[in-house]
Amino acid sequence: MSSTPTNSQWTPLSWKTKPIVQDVTYEDQKHMDRVIGKLQTLPPLVSSKEIDNLREQLRQVALGESFLLQGGDCAELFDYCSQDPIEAKLKVLLQMSLVLVWGGRTPVTRIARMAGQYAKPRSKPTEMHNGKEILTFRGDNVNGYDPEDRQADPERLLGAYFHSAATLNYVRTLVDSGFADLHEPSTWNLNHVQSNAVRGEYQSIVNQLTDALDFMKTVGADPSSATTQNALQKVDFFVSHEALLLDFEASLTRLLPSSKGQRQEKYYNAGAHFLWIGDRTRQPDGAHVEYMRGIENPIGIKVGPTTVPEDLVELLNTVNPTKAIGKVTLITRFGAGKVEAYLPQHIEAVRQSGHIPVWVCDPMHGNTKNASGGVKTRHFVDIIQELSEAFRVHKDCGSKLNGVHFELTGDSVTECVGGSMDLKDEDLSTNYQTHCDPRLNYEQALDVAFLIAKYYQK
Ligand code: PEP
Ligand code: MN
Repeated sequence: MSSTPTNSQWTPLSWKTKPIVQDVTYEDQKHMDRVIGKLQTLPPLVSSKEIDNLREQLRQVALGESFLLQGGDCAELFDYCSQDPIEAKLKVLLQMSLVLVWGGRTPVTRIARMAGQYAKPRSKPTEMHNGKEILTFRGDNVNGYDPEDRQADPERLLGAYFHSAATLNYVRTLVDSGFADLHEPSTWNLNHVQSNAVRGEYQSIVNQLTDALDFMKTVGADPSSATTQNALQKVDFFVSHEALLLDFEASLTRLLPSSKGQRQEKYYNAGAHFLWIGDRTRQPDGAHVEYMRGIENPIGIKVGPTTVPEDLVELLNTVNPTKAIGKVTLITRFGAGKVEAYLPQHIEAVRQSGHIPVWVCDPMHGNTKNASGGVKTRHFVDIIQELSEAFRVHKDCGSKLNGVHFELTGDSVTECVGGSMDLKDEDLSTNYQTHCDPRLNYEQALDVAFLIAKYYQK
């Protein structure tokens, strides 16, 4: 049984009474207090109405009526808050989602790992650099990647707020200005695809998509006409990050009007629409779970090979005692070849508990390897293998995979091996940029979407 009775008093700071992992130590506590005081006065980045809207969409996802696409950088850097990278990420997520809408014949809810995904959990607090032990890089909102800049600096939390605000502002501007322009797949360039056969298959999906959109135009549901503009051009776009730095998360936790009860105010994390608990911070009695159980936002929990099925049920009971459908997204990340061994027990335990979560596969975090040159990479074949295992195991267990979670970027980086561009270990040095986990590039991300769409066609 949990030592955290679910009815015990929750406050935005009640997590402080619980054991915490991945904590950050600040040398100057007064400086930290001043920064937190300032953050508490800054306006919400997202509204409770948007959060409630996402909750409703995720309810539909959990019920199998819709599909979830979540993706973005492993860790955003403040430098990514710039026109081109934001546009590229929005573009790849929108194009992927269009392929998925077509493939699955269901609506797609999009959540970006963006506008706040700065903090990183680390397996070790220190590392060796030139024979000296230094603190590890914990993300742009904590310290600098430069080995000279590893002391945690509270000012970086304000940097996180303002970079999130600027990113979100530009995303909203693009979405409101018709950037989504989903009806132009005919202009997509598939020249990167090395194999003629695969390019032919992708082209056939693009042609069918284009035909479907043309057909809508013909019958009067013109995507560019004012009436259908909302459905096709003005898409919903949500942002998310791992809730790792609890002082920061608590400072953005606000009492806001809830659409559920009239004139009722509830606690929302107003820094993102969706937050998740990572694989390293999901201890049932720990601080991160305590914080997450009190907010209205939909939340995610990473589930890995070390997740004990009984703990998973205890976690669900703690963060979602009313068993609200789709309130919790379970993001499984076992690794290729391991899904069969772990997922069935998790599905069965959750089914018996009566919870109805959103089941998502993250085929990235169980599949990190070292390339021959020593850098971290992920193999496209492993990613696809874990994904297809997740689809199949859910089906075999009478369940359904409701969504996918990727680390990706809209840029032409060379961090993952394989895909239709056929990147090899020796190509990784061409444009290897990540300071954290390797991401799918634009072409590899589209590949994944096409492969999922193909899977649905079977
Ligand atoms: C991540 O999503 O970047 C991450 C660290 O994942 P996990 O907590 O599943 O290891
Ligand atoms: Mn990662």
